[in-house]
Amino acid sequence: MIDQQLVKWGRSGNIIREIAEYGAEQAKIVGEENVYNFTIGSPSIDPPACVFETMEKLRAEMPPARLHTYAPAPGFPEVREKVAAYLRESFGVPYRGQDVVITCGTSTCLAVLTRVLLSGGGRAMTFTPYFMDYKYYADAYGDGLTECPTDPYTFQLDLDAAEKALTSDTMMLIINSPNNPSGVVLRREGLEELAALLERKQKEYGHPIYIVADEPYRDLIYDGEEVVYLPSIYKNTIYCYSFSKSMSLPGERVGFMALPPELDDHDDILTASLAMIRAFGYICVSSMWQRVAVECLGATSDISIYKDNRDLLYDSLTEMGYICVHPDGAFYLFMKTPDPDAEAFCRRAMKENLLLVPGDSFGTQGYVRIAYCVSRDVIERSLPVFRALAEEYGIAPDGKGC
Ligand code: PLP
Repeated sequence: MIDQQLVKWGRSGNIIREIAEYGAEQAKIVGEENVYNFTIGSPSIDPPACVFETMEKLRAEMPPARLHTYAPAPGFPEVREKVAAYLRESFGVPYRGQDVVITCGTSTCLAVLTRVLLSGGGRAMTFTPYFMDYKYYADAYGDGLTECPTDPYTFQLDLDAAEKALTSDTMMLIINSPNNPSGVVLRREGLEELAALLERKQKEYGHPIYIVADEPYRDLIYDGEEVVYLPSIYKNTIYCYSFSKSMSLPGERVGFMALPPELDDHDDILTASLAMIRAFGYICVSSMWQRVAVECLGATSDISIYKDNRDLLYDSLTEMGYICVHPDGAFYLFMKTPDPDAEAFCRRAMKENLLLVPGDSFGTQGYVRIAYCVSRDVIERSLPVFRALAEEYGIAPDGKGC
């Protein structure tokens, strides 16, 4: 008998992909230049030059049979050591090579860690708005996901809400900064207070509460804001990074997780994670791509292009009267909708071939996510549509009507 919950999840699909597919169909009818598709968080700019240089070098220097061989499940030892050295030098946490596992992006880290950390029962928790896959993992592998609200104006942490949301069932807390979908970077002050709260709760409940730091956007930061390195303020943090966004390599599926040596139950978590990697059946990360990515650690695509997009979009939309949270990182803008029913607003915008994702998909009502990892031209051509909608919904340039 097939678990009907799994069938239900499969059927529920992915709204982002559905809207994007609609966009692709519309493009065939009205022409690609007349569809303003802001749905997919897939990088629109080229990887940094060192990616291509390293590929060439590896091809020239390594016999193909060695380059394309199976990698060990946790990654090649020299690749793990390079990641550990990079993290030690960058953040001062004394990782060793054996503390690092090379993964298929942070998706694998999240799936594996949710399975492992909730294996004895319990719930995951995260802050709204949040990346929807967290809920799938927590529902599939544990007793579900607790959604903790943040400050409704800034999306910064609300410590009172966090204290209320934490229970003795909370085993892990997924934190994503810079955030998908808001682009908000969480401030040090709130995070340090949260760390102190978690220390207290661990003692009160008599078990560890792990932070899983989901940081595929760490290096997409535009005005020099600090992205706090969570393992340096809270010992029980597993750090998860991906090369998908910062190096524009989403399809190559490379990332890693790093467990601080002093993490509670370090060896059990590591060993169980490797068991899950086997059980999920992905065996290893691409042998060539893990070698390429690690040689380019610290490099990013030309993110000034995203910054220009952000400035154009944020300045234009706020000038029209839309209310948006200023995004300091990632490549998303979260905009309050003039219709409190964000899905209805998205449907209206869709008629004009303006494709947005309702915030309901991120656990937050009354907002849309605009992924601005698109060409500048798409943004420029979409602005008259945003302006016409603002007028239709009676939004004034001073933000009234939103
Ligand atoms: N976490 C967040 C917040 C994301 O936005 C994404 C992708 O969009 C992921 C994790 C997964 O990315 P990947 O598995 O490519 O690293």
